Amino acid sequence: MLFITHELPLLYNVTDDIMVMYAGQIVEKGTAKEMVFDPVHPYSHGLMGSILVPEEGTRGMKITAIPGTPPNLKKPPQGCRFAERCKYATPECRYSGIPDRAFGEGRSYRCLKSVEELKEVYQNE
Ligand code: SF4
Repeated sequence: MLFITHELPLLYNVTDDIMVMYAGQIVEKGTAKEMVFDPVHPYSHGLMGSILVPEEGTRGMKITAIPGTPPNLKKPPQGCRFAERCKYATPECRYSGIPDRAFGEGRSYRCLKSVEELKEVYQNE
Protein backbone atom coordinates (compact mmCIF):
# COMPACT_ATOMS: atom_id res chain seq x y z
CA MET A 1 0.00 0.00 0.00
CA LEU A 2 1.24 3.48 -0.85
CA PHE A 3 0.15 6.19 1.64
CA ILE A 4 0.92 9.82 0.80
CA THR A 5 0.90 12.61 3.39
CA HIS A 6 2.95 15.53 4.68
CA GLU A 7 2.67 14.23 8.24
CA LEU A 8 5.56 11.88 8.95
CA PRO A 9 4.30 11.07 12.47
CA LEU A 10 1.02 9.81 11.01
CA LEU A 11 2.97 7.49 8.70
CA TYR A 12 4.87 6.20 11.71
CA ASN A 13 1.67 4.48 12.83
CA VAL A 14 0.68 2.96 9.49
CA THR A 15 3.84 1.98 7.61
CA ASP A 16 7.21 0.28 8.01
CA ASP A 17 9.24 2.52 5.69
CA ILE A 18 9.04 6.17 4.66
CA MET A 19 10.35 7.95 1.56
CA VAL A 20 10.38 11.74 1.62
CA MET A 21 9.98 13.45 -1.75
CA TYR A 22 10.71 17.06 -2.62
CA ALA A 23 10.03 18.63 -6.03
CA GLY A 24 9.68 15.24 -7.72
CA GLN A 25 12.77 13.62 -6.22
CA ILE A 26 13.23 11.19 -3.34
CA VAL A 27 15.40 13.11 -0.87
CA GLU A 28 15.51 10.58 1.97
CA LYS A 29 14.37 7.07 2.82
CA GLY A 30 14.53 4.89 5.90
CA THR A 31 12.37 3.02 8.36
CA ALA A 32 9.40 4.87 9.82
CA LYS A 33 11.11 5.09 13.21
CA GLU A 34 14.35 6.45 11.73
CA MET A 35 12.55 9.01 9.59
CA VAL A 36 10.36 10.32 12.41
CA PHE A 37 12.92 10.40 15.20
CA ASP A 38 16.17 10.85 13.27
CA PRO A 39 15.55 12.62 9.94
CA VAL A 40 18.76 13.59 8.16
CA HIS A 41 17.91 15.57 5.01
CA PRO A 42 17.16 19.26 5.72
CA TYR A 43 13.68 18.95 4.14
CA SER A 44 12.77 15.87 6.24
CA HIS A 45 14.19 17.62 9.28
CA GLY A 46 12.14 20.71 8.47
CA LEU A 47 8.97 18.66 8.00
CA MET A 48 9.37 17.08 11.40
CA GLY A 49 10.10 20.45 12.93
CA SER A 50 6.89 21.95 11.54
CA ILE A 51 4.42 19.42 12.92
CA LEU A 52 2.89 19.29 16.38
CA VAL A 53 2.79 15.66 17.48
CA PRO A 54 1.96 13.96 20.75
CA GLU A 55 4.44 11.10 20.24
CA GLU A 56 6.77 10.53 23.14
CA GLY A 57 10.24 11.73 22.15
CA THR A 58 8.90 14.63 20.09
CA ARG A 59 7.01 16.41 22.88
CA GLY A 60 8.44 19.78 23.77
CA MET A 61 9.90 20.29 20.30
CA LYS A 62 9.97 23.88 19.10
CA ILE A 63 7.80 24.34 16.00
CA THR A 64 9.50 25.91 12.98
CA ALA A 65 8.38 26.67 9.43
CA ILE A 66 10.14 25.96 6.15
CA PRO A 67 10.37 29.33 4.38
CA GLY A 68 9.67 29.86 0.69
CA THR A 69 7.81 27.79 -1.88
CA PRO A 70 8.67 24.75 -4.02
CA PRO A 71 10.37 25.38 -7.38
CA ASN A 72 8.62 25.48 -10.74
CA LEU A 73 8.99 21.92 -12.02
CA LYS A 74 8.52 23.00 -15.61
CA LYS A 75 11.99 24.46 -15.22
CA PRO A 76 13.61 22.74 -12.20
CA PRO A 77 16.63 24.46 -10.68
CA GLN A 78 20.11 23.27 -11.43
CA GLY A 79 21.71 21.52 -8.45
CA CYS A 80 19.71 20.86 -5.30
CA ARG A 81 15.99 21.48 -5.79
CA PHE A 82 15.65 22.43 -2.10
CA ALA A 83 18.49 24.98 -2.15
CA GLU A 84 16.31 28.11 -2.28
CA ARG A 85 14.61 27.04 0.97
CA CYS A 86 17.52 25.37 2.75
CA LYS A 87 19.20 27.39 5.49
CA TYR A 88 22.31 25.23 5.20
CA ALA A 89 22.77 25.82 1.44
CA THR A 90 26.16 26.86 0.07
CA PRO A 91 26.88 28.16 -3.45
CA GLU A 92 28.03 24.67 -4.42
CA CYS A 93 24.53 23.29 -3.68
CA ARG A 94 23.06 25.37 -6.50
CA TYR A 95 25.42 24.15 -9.19
CA SER A 96 26.51 20.62 -8.28
CA GLY A 97 24.82 17.35 -9.09
CA ILE A 98 23.43 16.10 -5.78
CA PRO A 99 24.30 12.47 -5.04
CA ASP A 100 21.95 9.99 -3.43
CA ARG A 101 24.10 8.87 -0.49
CA ALA A 102 23.70 5.55 1.30
CA PHE A 103 24.25 5.26 5.05
CA GLY A 104 23.20 3.10 7.98
CA GLU A 105 21.22 -0.01 7.17
CA GLY A 106 19.38 0.67 3.93
CA ARG A 107 18.97 4.41 4.46
CA SER A 108 19.80 7.09 1.91
CA TYR A 109 19.53 10.85 1.46
CA ARG A 110 20.20 13.37 -1.32
CA CYS A 111 22.48 16.16 -0.06
CA LEU A 112 26.05 17.40 -0.42
CA LYS A 113 26.60 17.51 3.33
CA SER A 114 27.59 14.45 5.32
CA VAL A 115 25.29 12.94 7.95
CA GLU A 116 27.76 14.10 10.62
CA GLU A 117 27.77 17.70 9.34
CA LEU A 118 23.97 17.83 9.26
CA LYS A 119 23.56 16.31 12.74
CA GLU A 120 26.06 18.78 14.13
CA VAL A 121 24.20 21.81 12.77
CA TYR A 122 20.87 20.42 14.02
CA GLN A 123 22.33 19.94 17.50
CA ASN A 124 23.62 23.49 17.61
CA GLU A 125 20.28 25.11 16.75
S1 SF4 B 1 22.52 19.89 -0.95
FE1 SF4 B 1 22.77 21.87 0.04
S2 SF4 B 1 20.84 22.97 -0.37
FE2 SF4 B 1 20.46 20.80 -0.76
S3 SF4 B 1 19.66 20.00 1.14
FE3 SF4 B 1 21.86 19.67 1.19
S4 SF4 B 1 22.71 21.48 2.24
FE4 SF4 B 1 20.60 21.98 1.63
